[in-house]
Amino acid sequence: IRDLKIYAYHGVFEEEQRDGQTFYVSADLYLDTWEAEQNDDLDASVHYGIVSEKIQQYMTCVKHQLIERAAADVCEKLLGDFPKLQKIKLTLYKPEAPIPLPFGTVFVEVERGWEDVYIAVGSNMGDKEALIRKGIEMLDETPGVEVKEVSTLIETEPYGYLDQDTFLNGCLHVRTWLPPEVLLKRMQFIELALHRERKIHWGPRTIDLDMILYGEQVIHTKDLSVPHPDMTNRMFVLGPLDE
Ligand code: ADP
Ligand code: MG
Repeated sequence: IRDLKIYAYHGVFEEEQRDGQTFYVSADLYLDTWEAEQNDDLDASVHYGIVSEKIQQYMTCVKHQLIERAAADVCEKLLGDFPKLQKIKLTLYKPEAPIPLPFGTVFVEVERGWEDVYIAVGSNMGDKEALIRKGIEMLDETPGVEVKEVSTLIETEPYGYLDQDTFLNGCLHVRTWLPPEVLLKRMQFIELALHRERKIHWGPRTIDLDMILYGEQVIHTKDLSVPHPDMTNRMFVLGPLDE
């Protein structure tokens, strides 16, 4: 979709929020079109007319300060509306932006797409299964995260630090448009909310959530290593992951 013209009220200044101005939206929609190509069937594709109406609706139902937020908001809502959409690249132009100089336009480009992520879960304190189920529920309630599959939960012997109760371990298949470091933050928030305390390295924990795979990405930052560097040494990760 190119240059969809929309009158909306995004801006930092009071006049912008009061009087509004003209915006243009361009959107690149990424989806598998093979079935639509072969069967000439609209239901197998994404209806660009409905997408355009939704963009118009989402651009006008709220007033954001920033075009960054406005563009991201539209992307995130569209990914929720159209399951066939794998990725969306949205460009939001603001040709009447309050810049007291001659200029063509200003714009932001925001990209959002689903990634398949695998998360290992473990617990060896309290009601292990209930804690794991609660952790899964909290992940699934996170905007931009959908838990698609949960493996069998298996009972395993402790690893690393041996003087502790047996573990319950499993693996989740999750679909998300959150970036890896944001998803990790959310996983750590859930660990804290379920009363995880980091006392002994590899020691007892109410819940442990480890990011095993994030799409095909290879990540090495201070806080995050993906694929998880120790996964190949842990049968309690590989077994449920394989399932
Ligand atoms: P472990 O999972 O090995 O028992 P922790 O859960 O205490 O250890 O994690 C310690 C640190 O590992 C976290 O602070 C986190 O930043 C880091 N980390 C690095 N890579 C990952 C990953 N793939 N998943 C989860 N945490 C990770
Ligand atoms: Mg961990």
